[in-house]
Amino acid sequence: MIELILGQVLSFGADAMAEGPGAARHEARGAVALEAGRILAVGPAGDLRARYPAAPVTDMGDKLLSAGFIDTHVHYPQTAIIASWGKRLIDWLGTYTFPEEMRFADPAHAERVAKTYFDLALAHGTTSMCSYCTIHPASVEAFFLEAEARGVRALAGRTCMDRATAPEGLRDTAQAAYDESKALLERWHGRNRLSYVITPRFSPTSTPDQLLALGSLWAEHPDCLMQTHLSEQVDEIAWVKSLYPQARDYLDTYETFGLLGANAVYGHAIHLAPREMARLVEVGAGLAHCPTSNTFIGSGLFDTAGMAAAGLRVGLATDTGGGSSFSMLRTMAAAYEVAQLRGVALHPAQLWYLATTGAARLLRLEEKVGNLAPGMEADLIALDLASTPAIAQRAARAENVWEALFPTIMMGDDRAIAGVWVGGKRHR
Ligand SMILES: [Zn+2]
Repeated sequence: MIELILGQVLSFGADAMAEGPGAARHEARGAVALEAGRILAVGPAGDLRARYPAAPVTDMGDKLLSAGFIDTHVHYPQTAIIASWGKRLIDWLGTYTFPEEMRFADPAHAERVAKTYFDLALAHGTTSMCSYCTIHPASVEAFFLEAEARGVRALAGRTCMDRATAPEGLRDTAQAAYDESKALLERWHGRNRLSYVITPRFSPTSTPDQLLALGSLWAEHPDCLMQTHLSEQVDEIAWVKSLYPQARDYLDTYETFGLLGANAVYGHAIHLAPREMARLVEVGAGLAHCPTSNTFIGSGLFDTAGMAAAGLRVGLATDTGGGSSFSMLRTMAAAYEVAQLRGVALHPAQLWYLATTGAARLLRLEEKVGNLAPGMEADLIALDLASTPAIAQRAARAENVWEALFPTIMMGDDRAIAGVWVGGKRHR
């Protein structure tokens, strides 16, 4: 059955980081036609109503229809410790993160948190995400089962740690990391809308043997993404140097063990040496920018414009619970603020691109999600651009779509999410 959703429609025809607002398409009175979980057509409302006269219509009025948001780096097990006070990265992991991750030894706990996480993500308009789990296979099972039950396109992997730097209870071995990751990969990768991601937490919590084992697993499954953390804080980089004295730099601790490639997604990548930057560009790796996390934990200012100009694929991410919000709107606002501190004003079209089409490119999903175009999977959201009195009074003065959208980017939250469709089915 064909159905129509009416509203303002925002989509992308090109890379907005390279081409700015000209890359976006805006239909002031538009429509999206859905059929069997996919987008059949996008265009002016009048044209689509004439083409599909029998299709039932959901008229969202002047709400803005967009592809659902894609969160390219999140730790769903940290849902309950979001907004924990007063620490920088290494202390923050030891004080808040690791004790919470230990609780995922209990599958019932994993199941409860996975449900809460998906409730929150969808309420904020996030329809796809790439998550770290914990060392426990049950944490991966809980995440994928919940995603599958809701029909969400989701990616995740078992977080591997085997060094004494990780606490007892959250440590495996090189062999266990390989075996358990492989078993989960074989069970979940490509099942329905799910993908497995090979996930060493980061080089300070893995031995060279474990990195090598996960590098081998990736070589056996090159279509999988590999995600890890890179150059988040200056203290962390010094720590990596002390643990890997032979390494040329932080990226080299991955490169040496087969964990550098075109399907790699590195979180943060704030303090890169010129060699690291050159190698990332050369292999076509991608970067997940986590601006609320970078300011919250005091990590530094990611160079969004510079990375994109160098040809790197970049997507936005909450990094919950190091990040301080589940909202990709708040994440866009933080990305804008961080770029401002580096002297660059990212255009609203670029911020939106980084949270949708650009994020999909980062996760190699650009043929499936992240845009409103014929053939794409029907994951979309409707935005209320006047969701609070403060936003409404500013948007009322807007003279174009970007002026109308920017107050929601800067001040909006889950109250702005007026509708969410996942695989063509309306969730809220
Ligand atoms: Zn992270």
